[in-house]
Amino acid sequence: MEENRKAQLLKLLRSRDAYVSGQELCEQFGVSRTAVWKMINQLKEEGYEIEAVSNRGYCLKSAPDLTSPEEITSRLTTDWAGRTVYHFGETGSTNIDAKRLADEGAPHGTLVVADTQTMGRGRRGRGWESEDAGKAVYMTLLLKPQFSPEYASRVTLLMAMAVTAALEEVCEGQSVQIKWPNDVVINGRKACGILTEMSAEPGYIHHVVIGTGINVNQSSFPKEIEQTAASVLRETGKMQPRALIIARVMFFFEQYYECFVQTHDLSALREQYEAHLAGIGREVRVLDPKGEYTGVSKGITDSGELIVEKEDGTRVEVYAGEVSVRGLYGYTA
Ligand code: ATP
Repeated sequence: MEENRKAQLLKLLRSRDAYVSGQELCEQFGVSRTAVWKMINQLKEEGYEIEAVSNRGYCLKSAPDLTSPEEITSRLTTDWAGRTVYHFGETGSTNIDAKRLADEGAPHGTLVVADTQTMGRGRRGRGWESEDAGKAVYMTLLLKPQFSPEYASRVTLLMAMAVTAALEEVCEGQSVQIKWPNDVVINGRKACGILTEMSAEPGYIHHVVIGTGINVNQSSFPKEIEQTAASVLRETGKMQPRALIIARVMFFFEQYYECFVQTHDLSALREQYEAHLAGIGREVRVLDPKGEYTGVSKGITDSGELIVEKEDGTRVEVYAGEVSVRGLYGYTA
């Protein structure tokens, strides 16, 4: 069955609590009863549980936790974000794939998703633990913006906001916050890391790739990050479909991005950002390679720098590039 048709069928089945009649499916896809039956069987073979009741039709009872293009597309509600999806079972790094696809002409909004990465990266050459295949989200969104390169790093903050909004929907009752600039934490532990990279020349962006790793269904982590990492499952006790989280992140990102490109800054989004900013109003330690210091986090500027007020009253606007921020007593607080 062709990818688009499969996505449409899944979307239709998912949109109803009740049964969808065979007749409706025949009309929708312009095919015979036998063809509908074959399409349904193909989904069943892929792990979808579909109940078929004569005289009533078909009902989707459960879906496997796939991040296939059809599974993602069937849940998307966006105009452009994630509308072209590439899926890899295993890859080196989705950022590297997205850069290659961008050079080959992939459109703005292309999404690259993998079940596992062998070379997942964080900032400054650090690693991103990604070998727990099929349990987390490893994805890269490709943008081909019209704006000037100086604004590009700000999209990291938009992605952090989008992931926070999506995780809030599935982590009811838990604290989901942004750890400026590029992480999202659940209950103070890191559940998402974002790595934005750009290809540009003076005054012109070829493309921007936003790599995002989200810990979803991992029940444990390697020793090195056991204390500082969170997954949705560990914090809520519930598994979530990765495709749902991806689709919701795309939804929120598209909204925030549309807002951002009006002004190329965060002026319209700052209030919402700060409402989710970990450590705001509290003392933080800025790990600047030129010298560490502490101060009270006061929020962000419209350009996305963190405002830190030192004890002597001076205000520093911290630029994300080389800096990490810690809570005074722990990772975020
Ligand atoms: P910091 O979080 O220390 O301020 P950073 O934002 O530069 O630094 P990233 O580049 O976002 O960090 O991520 C890399 C770091 O995240 C690694 O050094 C490791 O400590 C931690 N890490 C790696 N993989 C995961 C994961 N799957 N979940 C949570 N944390 C991880």
